[in-house]
Amino acid sequence: MFKIENLTRIYNTGNTQVKALDGVSIDIDTADIFGIIGMSGAGKSTLLRCMGMLDRPDEGSIEIDGVDVLSVTPRQLIEVRKQIGTVFQGYNLLMQKTVAKNIAFPLELSNTPKEDIHKRVTELLELVGLSDKAQSYPSQLSGGQKQRVAIARALAVNPKVLLCDEPTSALDPLTTRSILSLLKEINQKYSVTIVIITHEIGVVRSICNKVAVIDNSVVVEQGETKAVFESPR
Ligand code: ADP
Ligand code: ADP
Repeated sequence: MFKIENLTRIYNTGNTQVKALDGVSIDIDTADIFGIIGMSGAGKSTLLRCMGMLDRPDEGSIEIDGVDVLSVTPRQLIEVRKQIGTVFQGYNLLMQKTVAKNIAFPLELSNTPKEDIHKRVTELLELVGLSDKAQSYPSQLSGGQKQRVAIARALAVNPKVLLCDEPTSALDPLTTRSILSLLKEINQKYSVTIVIITHEIGVVRSICNKVAVIDNSVVVEQGETKAVFESPR
């Protein structure tokens, strides 16, 4: 579903250059929960931003279901963006809006009829287990609950893939487990491809069937999680 080839991204700041990605290639299938693991500064967020069409690589190609998304027209780009849901680090919720309004927001932006919005928001609140929090504000929620709202909002327009940037790094172990099982449910029940950026091996081991290890702007290993993290002897 995602075919990434030879991505290179160079940041120019003043007279210094940082090569945040250097020839990164990754293959992700529809059914995957794909982990991208690496240390801080390795290039993970840059890669995720390029995959989410929020940043543009200097070189390389990105295909989604066979479509070369780096060379589509602006009109097609709007459609491509709808196929990609993003869960940002730090949630990015709108603090002045209720939980229901936060989830409804992308639907309002895409001019969805009011009745359809209500129906979809009801479904999503149920999916993430926050039906009783529809009228609460983000400041009244725990970290795990905020993450559930962010996930529901990212799913609102029915994306094919959900990109998650460190979805559990701010959460305690128990909450981490519940968020990971929610992501697994979304992958299995709704056939949404999941990509998770993390620096925690435990996250990859617990739900990712495949993993790419990124170190110093380069993919150093990639494959089935079992093969990558349990070296045969
Ligand atoms: P990670 O998500 O793995 O921590 P990043 O993709 O955030 O890594 O960063 C990769 C490298 O690119 C780092 O050296 C970082 O300092 C640099 N970098 C990231 N964003 C920018 C930016 N906007 N401008 C300049 N350098 C950046
Ligand atoms: P508004 O004042 O604009 O109705 P709300 O926060 O009540 O603000 O609702 C925002 C959106 O979320 C609306 O589209 C509404 O249909 C939907 N919504 C509100 N509450 C619920 C709920 N409990 N279940 C499902 N959808 C809801």
